[in-house]
Amino acid sequence: MRQTSHQSQMSREWNYHPDLPLANASIFQWPPRPAFLLHWLLRNWLMLSERVLMVIAAIGLWAFAYPALQTAENFAWGWVAQVWAVNMVMMVAVAGGLHWYLYMRKGQGKQLKFDHRNPAKNNRLWKFSNQVHDNMFWTLTSGVAQLTAFQVVTMWMMANGYAPTISFADHPVWFVLAMVLLPIWSAFHFYWIHRLLHVPFFYQRFHALHHRNINIGPWSGVSMHPLEHLLYLSSLAIHWIVPTHPILLYFHIIYQGPGAAMSHAGYEDLLIRDKRRLALGTFYHQLHHRYYECNYGNQEMPWDRWFGTFHDGTDEGTKETKERRRKMYQT
Ligand SMILES: [Zn+2]
Ligand SMILES: [Zn+2]
Repeated sequence: MRQTSHQSQMSREWNYHPDLPLANASIFQWPPRPAFLLHWLLRNWLMLSERVLMVIAAIGLWAFAYPALQTAENFAWGWVAQVWAVNMVMMVAVAGGLHWYLYMRKGQGKQLKFDHRNPAKNNRLWKFSNQVHDNMFWTLTSGVAQLTAFQVVTMWMMANGYAPTISFADHPVWFVLAMVLLPIWSAFHFYWIHRLLHVPFFYQRFHALHHRNINIGPWSGVSMHPLEHLLYLSSLAIHWIVPTHPILLYFHIIYQGPGAAMSHAGYEDLLIRDKRRLALGTFYHQLHHRYYECNYGNQEMPWDRWFGTFHDGTDEGTKETKERRRKMYQT
């Protein structure tokens, strides 16, 4: 049994952290806890949560911003550029908007901010000696380009019948179920490619770029090496096999792109008039950025617990993680 006395050390290290040790937030628990699952469903899907907002955004983009699927039957620069431009604006609006509000305007000061520090400046570790500019560079070049590439290829496949599609009218139940399952699929896929990226060979060549961000901010979410972008975004290839709908594809695009800016905001929630209005980052992934060899997945999935890589925020967790890292790099 881990003691709460460990909190004092963690409290010195962090500006803010949730109650420790972290509770088991996985939706895959045995025996199942119906009340917990109901609460999860309510919090994620039956309120104005970040997921619901993303679905609303996906519908809006489908209706007004992205080209119609018929347009995508043949590749042409016009509609591809349109998709790229929409994704560019969306990424700048979400990551830039959060960065402006939380770090420039300091809209909620350091309330619910995990790390004490501000983004790094005047440090040669970063392109342009500036963490935010460096992160923007990787996000807005390779990040948006590959997000767009996956999207236009999938749209083209859907338009030509190479990728299976459904209509809401014919398959309303699957439409809704697929919507709920997509983030779970994404988390499953992310865990495995992320473990692969932590194999020292791949880590040093590719993933270390994302991990220079120990103190993360909204622009860190999609700041990755181009090869990591490719692996990370390959989650979207599920639409090539499983019957979905363009709205579900766009939801998935938002989830992988701007969604990562939200989950890397460096703050746990967005406060509006002192009320937690929107979930942003998790301490779970923040621990991954600080200690590396732990919490590869996200807290909804059971993998870290099952495979013994879970850091629950206590000093023991830190000790175990450091030991794991030492062993991994021994050879
Ligand atoms: Zn990592
Ligand atoms: Zn990350």
